Amino acid sequence: MRTMSPMSPMNPTIQMQGLAKSFGRTEVLRDIDLAVPEGAIYALVGANGAGKTTMIKLLMNIFLPTAGRAQVLGVDSRKLAGRDFNRIGYVSENQDLPDAMTVGGLLDYMRPFYPRWDRALERQLVRQFDLPLDRKLKHLSRGMRMKAAFASSLAYRPPLIVLDEPFTGLDPLVRDELIEGLLERAPETTIFLSSHDLAEIESFASHVGYLEDGRMLFSEEMAVLSDRFREVTITLAAPAPLPPNLPPAWLQPETVDCVVRFVHSEYRGDATAREIAAIFPTARDISTEPMSLRSIFLAIAKSSRSHNRAPHIPTGRRPEA
Ligand code: ATP
Repeated sequence: MRTMSPMSPMNPTIQMQGLAKSFGRTEVLRDIDLAVPEGAIYALVGANGAGKTTMIKLLMNIFLPTAGRAQVLGVDSRKLAGRDFNRIGYVSENQDLPDAMTVGGLLDYMRPFYPRWDRALERQLVRQFDLPLDRKLKHLSRGMRMKAAFASSLAYRPPLIVLDEPFTGLDPLVRDELIEGLLERAPETTIFLSSHDLAEIESFASHVGYLEDGRMLFSEEMAVLSDRFREVTITLAAPAPLPPNLPPAWLQPETVDCVVRFVHSEYRGDATAREIAAIFPTARDISTEPMSLRSIFLAIAKSSRSHNRAPHIPTGRRPEA
């Protein structure tokens, strides 16, 4: 059964406007504008301490914003309460589970709280994740605990699933099983997750947002991001120093002998070739390579570190921000 969400495509499932959070004098999130369209698999990435968990806790009404607001499934996050959480599956890395319960006991306990709990789906998830129903949660491995948390959050078919670093510390097989379980739910749910596992994210996320030091650097469709980042290698007729004032969209430019390399963060096919030819009239060859999400992440993070500030990331094609 496909569950229809009341949200229309014009009404994002998650929306943030000027969202900010400080702890004392420490600003952890600053002026975040973000929209997660219905049906998206939205991956929030960023270095340790960037503010990902804080953002998720604001969305789940665990923290209150210092300024701005967030709406989750059309409800102001500050007003999210009991019944709203019947429509949200929330799993975090260090999920608190009632350790003395068995897996079966946990499912029995949770079932009555959720009017939309689907017994057939529950059985399917138990089989799919190979969950030992009679084993106590405290005796489960890390991967099994995560699978139990997933099963108990997917079985009521929530229209929104929020996951805080769900894959951390899990072996590749368990990661694959969890991703498969998620993707099977994807047509009927919007998924918002934070993760450092860029290879995994790249394989299944539809949108990606990059949080740096509490600011949203970009938020866009994965395909748009992959399209606009390229590793560029230029071979010159003779060695030449890098000209000053290179375009700010060129990240980490460097030159060795006749070869110039950089990451283009606003690659536009022929227009980029013309831009390069104008700056390097002696270019003999220009090659451009698509980049993995991991390489894109590293280029942005390194560029940001070397400038000690966020690098210029063009804003022209940010459909979701
Ligand atoms: P990681 O990838 O390491 O999990 P993160 O992106 O999820 O990091 P957060 O956990 O949101 O980052 O933390 C962002 C910043 O906010 C950190 O500097 C952290 O120390 C600070 N912080 C988080 N919670 C609190 C709190 N309750 N009180 C004070 N500071 C906090």
